Amino acid sequence: MQKNKKALIASSNKGKIKEFQKIFSELDLVSLRDLEIHDAIEDGLSFLENAILKARHGAKHSELYSIADDSGLVVPDLNFQPGIYSARYAGENANDKLNREKLRASIANFGKESLDAYYVCIIVGMHDENDPMPIVASGKIHGKVSIQESGEGGFGYDKLFYPDGYDMSMASISADIKNSISHRGIAAKQFIEKFRAN
Ligand code: IMP
Repeated sequence: MQKNKKALIASSNKGKIKEFQKIFSELDLVSLRDLEIHDAIEDGLSFLENAILKARHGAKHSELYSIADDSGLVVPDLNFQPGIYSARYAGENANDKLNREKLRASIANFGKESLDAYYVCIIVGMHDENDPMPIVASGKIHGKVSIQESGEGGFGYDKLFYPDGYDMSMASISADIKNSISHRGIAAKQFIEKFRAN
């Protein structure tokens, strides 16, 4: 990866921007927030489609190499929800707390205290809006979602997500460890390898 290459992280989610700046420390990453660019309309029906839409939107409005991710939490027993609607699970004015409350209620309605779940992340990189060969990388982490909240770190559903092999929620795991095991960390590592080979 070219040292200090300026690139866009096509997101305005503070939690994600922070994680990406740490993961892609060799890049000089600016965000949609920094450039005052509005968010893309995410009307795809899959994580992949939404990641492409976001990266293309970022490239078009910034004229920088544009990196976008689409990520979310999938609970197979809840019809694969929240899925691509993870950020707005509790409705258009949702926030992390309201989304977690809705998820806890859904788990309880299912009659369980916890359910199998996974986080997924797709990362797409594009040179410009017409780039015919975007870089695509993906990562997944399996675990359980519980009605019990714990931990103070992370964002989104982390207080409810207990990764397999860890006796604590994602919100209780240090940022460095989260980045090395998470869906985003895995996808980012794959992305960097493809970016270097490009
Ligand atoms: P996106 O910004 O459209 O990709 O939406 C991602 C949403 O999925 C976030 O707003 C969170 O609700 C959830 N999510 C994705 N990754 C994570 C994570 O690492 N921790 C917690 N929640 C996450």
